[in-house]
Amino acid sequence: MNPFAYHRASDARSAIALAGPAAGAKYLGGGTNLVDLMRETIERPSTLVDVSGLSKNIEARADGSVLIGAAASNSAVALHPAIRERFPVLARAILAGASGQIRNMATVGGNILQRTRCHYFYDQSTRCNKREPGSGCDAVEGFHRMHAVLGTSPSCIATHPSDMCVALAALDALVHLSGPQGDRVLPLAELHRLPGDTPQIEHVLSPGELIVAVEVPALAFGARSAYRKVRDRASYAFALVSVAAALDVEQGRIQAVRIALGGVAHKPWRAHQAEAALQGAVADEAAFLAAANAELADAVGLRDNAFKIELARRTMVAVLGQLAKEAA
Ligand SMILES: Cc1cc2nc3c(=O)[nH]c(=O)nc-3n(C[C@H](O)[C@H](O)[C@H](O)COP(=O)(O)OP(=O)(O)OC[C@H]3O[C@@H](n4cnc5c(N)ncnc54)[C@H](O)[C@@H]3O)c2cc1C
Ligand code: SF4
Repeated sequence: MNPFAYHRASDARSAIALAGPAAGAKYLGGGTNLVDLMRETIERPSTLVDVSGLSKNIEARADGSVLIGAAASNSAVALHPAIRERFPVLARAILAGASGQIRNMATVGGNILQRTRCHYFYDQSTRCNKREPGSGCDAVEGFHRMHAVLGTSPSCIATHPSDMCVALAALDALVHLSGPQGDRVLPLAELHRLPGDTPQIEHVLSPGELIVAVEVPALAFGARSAYRKVRDRASYAFALVSVAAALDVEQGRIQAVRIALGGVAHKPWRAHQAEAALQGAVADEAAFLAAANAELADAVGLRDNAFKIELARRTMVAVLGQLAKEAA
């Protein structure tokens, strides 16, 4: 591990001042991803600003929304009664990730900005455009069973590993940011980037920008939501494919629907095409299949991960079918 300075911030303003606008500093949440990457010298921050003591507050507002402090642990969010009642998809997504111990340590801010689990990114003896821009991508010809099928580029086929973010994308969550240039609010769906030819740039945050809170807006049918994660082991495994969905059905017709996919792209993938195909449709398997086909029409599989396209199709149909059945 490289030497670094360590500061513990007492509030958001002091955290931003301690980090400064230069790129050398990093915020430290629970450290469950960043510290691993520092041990491997893949991340080499000159300064760590510990923000794990900032707001952990989870505020269930009267209008049905919930505001979550970025330092709240993943466990605290998943177990909060308002989250379980208003947005079960979010509680289930978090509980589908990592282990109890890691969820106790991991923060909401850190979960959003966790980095890919591509094996080559962690292995310094291989070529990786994300770790070393311009060096190449050994995953394209190599072991890529876990990799992306949507929104990929020749430069990078990595996936975003978070389960929580898939649910937040489906719920139209807003990320509250504070930084050297001031405060702003950004839809979570616009925070992460597709790889293009700069896969090392994973999000749109400026140097020194801090995630202060995440807001989950009220959703009248949020209680009718579900998360399904398909993986190689029943626990402690990243998603091959996951689906977060919420469905509002009246008299057999779809009034509103939200769908996001995980394990398939460099960012949580909001399924806008499937949603558009389902608006006003009869809530049956044929409609769910047509919607899944519309969303996956541009998916591109490689030698080892092409199975994910069919897996995503079937998982979407199954989750939407389950929600429609519950609504009947
Ligand atoms: C064995 C193992 C299995 C796992 N399995 C899963 C899984 O199945 N599903 C899943 O979703 N996740 C899984 N994870 C990942 C886990 O969810 C993340 O490691 C965790 O959420 C990161 O949160 P953290 O607070 O520890 O982040 P940190 O490691 O502290 O930070 C991660 C990144 O976020 C930045 N950061 C932290 N807080 C802020 C902030 N407030 N503002 C701006 N930047 C910030 C840091 O600078 C760093 O770049 C697993 C991890 C491990 C080790
Ligand atoms: S897929 Fe992306 S992260 Fe993985 S080796 Fe290629 S460039 Fe690196």
